[in-house]
Amino acid sequence: MTALLTHNFFMTHDLLIQSAQLTDGRLVDIGIGAGVVQAIYPANSSENVVTATTILPANGNVLMPGLVDAHVHLDKTYVPMTNHSGTLEEAVQVWFAGRPQLSKADAIARASRAIECAISHGTTAMRTHINVVDRQDLEMVEATLEVRERYKQVITLQTVALGLAGASQSRDEMMDVALRMGVDIVGSAPSFAPDKTAALQAAFRLAAQFGKTLDLHIDENNNPQSGELEQMAELTIAYGLQGQVVAGHCCSLSFMNEVDAGRVMDKVAAAGIHIIALPSCNLVLQGRNQFPAPRGVTRVKELLARGVNVSAASDNVRDPFNPFGNYDVLSAAYILAHTTHMTGTDELNLTREMVTAHPRLAMGLPACSVAVGAPADFVLLDSNDQQDAVLCPPYRLATVKAGKLIYKAEIRREWFMCP
Ligand SMILES: [Zn+2]
Repeated sequence: MTALLTHNFFMTHDLLIQSAQLTDGRLVDIGIGAGVVQAIYPANSSENVVTATTILPANGNVLMPGLVDAHVHLDKTYVPMTNHSGTLEEAVQVWFAGRPQLSKADAIARASRAIECAISHGTTAMRTHINVVDRQDLEMVEATLEVRERYKQVITLQTVALGLAGASQSRDEMMDVALRMGVDIVGSAPSFAPDKTAALQAAFRLAAQFGKTLDLHIDENNNPQSGELEQMAELTIAYGLQGQVVAGHCCSLSFMNEVDAGRVMDKVAAAGIHIIALPSCNLVLQGRNQFPAPRGVTRVKELLARGVNVSAASDNVRDPFNPFGNYDVLSAAYILAHTTHMTGTDELNLTREMVTAHPRLAMGLPACSVAVGAPADFVLLDSNDQQDAVLCPPYRLATVKAGKLIYKAEIRREWFMCP
């Protein structure tokens, strides 16, 4: 007994994950309690005298930090609306035409379906934008905040008020109401404003007024002169918000010449803006009726090379903006790797970080890893090959959030006549 105690191997945990393969190749048992990693043991060590309330056998499969989806639209997801042209313009028209048929109860049901789907893919944190245009949208805000409360034990859900401060008095009032209702972050889509500069300035003023951070839809178009990202970088520095603001899309960066793009990316790096690339939605909406069709995804490699924190996320799923998706952010990494030519081993490993560590940083969450004291948010893959995560995203066997087993799947395979 003395020897065991000396080695600190007599422990009781809330959860013990046995024989997990880490992304550095180590095979370990992980003891978890009070929401954090309490101990890491060599797997199957006969010296381990460990007990736990719940035991999760990993059987040599790969355990990763929990996935993080930093940009979704839960208010729009799974609506039965069709966008025939596939353009962003028609998506917006279809959304507003169909919106009167949506109810708060329906919004809660759709968002709940999305969250449970995300958890079943290993997602432990998510950030959703919610339209805040007029009074009818406030029902969707209420619905999303109720869903955030309902699922707070099993997923971190951050909310962004996607309005257009500075465009009109009524738009300003709606943003004010949404933020007072408890929405976490100031959002905007300046491309839709009559005066983009005024909209950007108003968003920063509003964030300062409420003491909030910003997460904006920026340059979601193929116009190289769009200019929103550069202005956003300048405002971020002017307001002293370096490292605290997020820009999604940034498509027009890919349509700029090298000189202009380099200048903008240098400013983004200096401002510490977190960039969220949204490959599925960009491939669907951008570059319609252009030949050859551009990819529309932002300049991921060039931003990373400048030290910018770039993430990949789902964006719209199963709505007029994007008919595809299943809230599996590893699929976003898979599509991003294709569209941005991130194909070397180091690049593929980095792509994996773009749906784990990078979005955690963008969302202001503490870093997560298999290290003593780290938050215990994990996903267990149905694979013993760590390269599979991005190369061919496997089924997920378990999701652990804040030290608790939230989801578990058992896959039974039978082979016949196979030599
Ligand atoms: Zn979006």
